[in-house]
Amino acid sequence: MHELSIVMNILDTVEEKAKEMNATMVHEIEMEVGILSGVEFDALDFAFENSPKPPLLSKVQFLMHKIKPVAKCSDCQLEFDTLEYATPCPGCKSIHTELIKGNELRIKSFKMD
Ligand SMILES: [Zn+2]
Repeated sequence: MHELSIVMNILDTVEEKAKEMNATMVHEIEMEVGILSGVEFDALDFAFENSPKPPLLSKVQFLMHKIKPVAKCSDCQLEFDTLEYATPCPGCKSIHTELIKGNELRIKSFKMD
């Protein structure tokens, strides 16, 4: 399952950082997940709940922020909400638009002792 490997990766990364900082317990991981990141929110949530966790992360809570996709037109600089890649600009109809938000999958922050 794709989402499980993502979660294992996140747990590994956080555990490593927490160890570096001599943490005794990680309480919360805050994630930013773009709607166009290709990840299923529910599957990610499920994978997180059900993945084996190292002792440092045994009580961790998982907080996900869904990031709405925003694209920007490189011809008229208009920024607009979108629901897919490569949407023509609603202002000038240009097809030279790029996604500037909405495909991220990253750890925003985490809380620990
Ligand atoms: Zn435009």
